[in-house]
Formats: sequence, structure tokens, C-alpha cells
Amino acid sequence: MANLAIASALSSKQDLIVEDKLNHASLIDAARLSDADFKRYNHNDLEHLALRLQQAGEYRRRLIMTDGVFSMDGDCADLPGLSQLAEQQDAWLMVDDAHGFGVLGRRGAGLLEQQSMTQQQVPVFMATLGKSAGCYGAFVAGSEELIETLIQSARSYIYTTATPPALAAATIKSLEIIEKESWRREKLAELIAYFRQQMATLDFELMPSNTAIQPIVIGDNHRALALSEALLQQDILVTAIRPPTVPVGTARLRVTLSAEHEMAQIDRLVAALQSLSADCSMG
Ligand SMILES: *Cc1c(COP(=O)(O)O)cnc(C)c1O
Repeated sequence: MANLAIASALSSKQDLIVEDKLNHASLIDAARLSDADFKRYNHNDLEHLALRLQQAGEYRRRLIMTDGVFSMDGDCADLPGLSQLAEQQDAWLMVDDAHGFGVLGRRGAGLLEQQSMTQQQVPVFMATLGKSAGCYGAFVAGSEELIETLIQSARSYIYTTATPPALAAATIKSLEIIEKESWRREKLAELIAYFRQQMATLDFELMPSNTAIQPIVIGDNHRALALSEALLQQDILVTAIRPPTVPVGTARLRVTLSAEHEMAQIDRLVAALQSLSADCSMG
């Protein structure tokens, strides 16, 4: 609903929204439900985006929308590159940092902090509160004009009940923890590095991700599902992600690490995967 608020309040019939092909469904649907025209560019492909924007000279306004951390791949958007392009082409840049907020950057402010981006470079910032904050809802941050525009004209914000006070209070507490307890981010970074290092010895394909989302590419839908079920039998919860959520032929196990995990649990996961891959190759 926050993404829909942004797309519909900032664009109308004479405008264009351009999105990364691997954006989260809520960004894709936000563009579809707005009055703007909608185009997509290949994943993290700045040249393709530049082409899309050049072809779109006749539009009054162009809005680029991207995931910060891509939710099914775990890789990140190139914000310096995107913001430079947006500036050259006189377009606006919006980032959905659902998986970066609270987790990336020294203070947990997210991908913008990690990539040293300013509000001028990324004028529209959105993040959710249901992931690292362990709560519910979302927020948009930006200039006073942006926020006032949303308050005055974002229909999915205006015509619905406000966040319940209890959730607001819980969110404030979460924000305190996010800001103060940087050891959680440090521990998570160690777990991520350890997982990748341990997996390097096995015959599985990881994706180029430095974030808590660590997909293992399996390819075949049935094999991905069978591996996920076998892991669950050993009390390890790793979901299988299949098309249409990801492209055909790239079914994967989506390992999601958190600061609550311990090294020993990663050892257990890696050992389980090792014995399952040995089972599979035998028959
Ligand atoms: C999970 C996610 C959302 C949706 O967040 P909810 O809190 O579940 O509504 C939006 N955008 C991205 C990029 C996400 O990963």
C-alpha cells in the first residue's frame, strides 16, 4: 500500500514508471494500478534503463522504482549508478529497501547508508516494518514536499485506518534496538560470510549476494521442493522458491539468515545439504 501510495500520488496519465524486472510484486502492481504508463528494464542493467528513459522523452515525468535488496536474489541495486542516470535524464528515483532497512549500514539505516547516498540522490525512500523491525507496516521518507504530497493525495494512505497505536509503540522500540544494537548487524555479517565460505566446499551454486538472502540455485522445481522437504524433516526451514516467483529454470532454496542464528546451525544446514546432494547423485 505504501508503494501504491507513491506510484499513484507521484504519477498520472502523462507520466511513465520504469522498474527493474526483478522488482517485488508490490512495486510491479503499484505501477500497474497507477494511471502512468509502465515499462521494465533488465535486472540491474543501467544501459537498458538509459535506453528506456531515452525512448520516453515525450512523458511529462519519469519515475524509476527499484528494490534496494532484491528479495529473491539477495543482490543490491547500484544506487550511485541509478541516481546519476536519474539526474542526467531528469527522472525521479524511488528505492524500496524492505530487505536493507535495519540490516545494512553502520546504523542500520539501510542500503542508502551503506552506499553513502543522500536524500537529493534518492528523493523517495520506502521501507517496510515487517522484516528487520519484526513489526508491521511501512513508511516513506523524503522531502517535506514529498511527504505533504502523499498525505494530501495518496489514496491508499488516506482511505484506510491508520496504524494502531500499539504497533506504533512496538515500532518505536524496534527502531531503538535497530539503532543501538549494532552487534546484531555485525553478527549477521559474520554468519553470511561463514555460510558462503562453508558452502564453497559443496557442489551447490550460490548467487552473488552479500546480504541475509542467500539463494541456492537448484534449477529443477521438483528437486528444489524435495530438498526443502528433506530439510524440514531435519527441522531446518528453508523454503523452495519456484516460477512464477522466479524465472523458469531457476528454482532455488532461499536460505535467509538472521542475527538469531548461530554458527552451529549453519554447520548443521551445510552438513544436511552435503548428505542430501550425495543421496541425489547416487540415485
Ligand atoms: C516483503 C517486501 C514488501 C512487502 O512487505 P510487507 O510488509 O510484507 O507488506 C515490499 N517490498 C519488498 C521489496 C519486499 O521484499
